[in-house]
Amino acid sequence: MGTKKLPTLKDFQKRFPNDDACLEHVMRVRYGKRHICQSCHREANYYRTRGRRSYTCEHCGYQVYPTKDTPFEQARTPLTDWFYVMFLFSVSRNGVAAKEVQRQIGVTYKTAWRMCSKIRQHMGAVDGDRPLGGSTKAAPIVEIDEAFLGGRDPVGKDDKAIVLGMVERNGDVLSRQVGARHTNQILPQVKKWVKEGSHVMTDDARVYRGIDIHGYAHESVNHSEYEYVRGEAHTNTIESYWAMLKRGINGTYIHVSKKHLQKYLWEFEYRHNLRHAPHLMFDLLLMVFAQPVLPVLSSPAKGD
Ligand SMILES: [Zn+2]
Repeated sequence: MGTKKLPTLKDFQKRFPNDDACLEHVMRVRYGKRHICQSCHREANYYRTRGRRSYTCEHCGYQVYPTKDTPFEQARTPLTDWFYVMFLFSVSRNGVAAKEVQRQIGVTYKTAWRMCSKIRQHMGAVDGDRPLGGSTKAAPIVEIDEAFLGGRDPVGKDDKAIVLGMVERNGDVLSRQVGARHTNQILPQVKKWVKEGSHVMTDDARVYRGIDIHGYAHESVNHSEYEYVRGEAHTNTIESYWAMLKRGINGTYIHVSKKHLQKYLWEFEYRHNLRHAPHLMFDLLLMVFAQPVLPVLSSPAKGD
């Protein structure tokens, strides 16, 4: 303990050498060391059942399947494979391509793609979402901007998606796909995710004009006049986030369709928002995976 570094592959292999070790972990995360038996209602130790993915109550023999109703359950995929792919996602900087997973663990492309997709979805759940900014003097400034992501669809047609990004300086980022660069698409998202009274920085795009009417202290830099920084007024934080996101998406993933883009956005949010605690990324991801129900996304789950 004590180290905040990313785990190495060796650390990982030592901790989870086989499926039994993985199952034990899921059991502990989901039920703790001892728990009240559903059948005999006594506090019990559970012992691993031989030859099954279950544990047995010491008093009455009732069996508990720790992977039941989790993504681990359905697949014929060994737990070690799931754990390994999650490990890859936790230590990677720019994302993990399904092709790479296919190659490394020897599953079909379809299986690899599904695993990656599930993992991204759960990264969104770990990260939770809480509104940004605040009206106090100590509250961080929130930068807001849009980016065009993706490129061409498999037929070669232009298929760029518009993403709205909101980021606290030195804090968390939130990104949401929007249908158009119109006030009626952007403003509801801003109002939902940026607290009233926040100090907000944008460029001079039309959609942000008059945003102060909605209770924001708004400043903008005039990009069309080549103005990028004026004292505290700049959007450098969100711009560097876009650069990182584009590097990841364009570099690692061949094509991300609009339909699946939000999952990729969650993945990169997750990495950004946990950047000061990289050693926790893997364990947090395992923790949500071991839950039977995925927490509802985009609720203000994290407290301030
Ligand atoms: Zn029992």
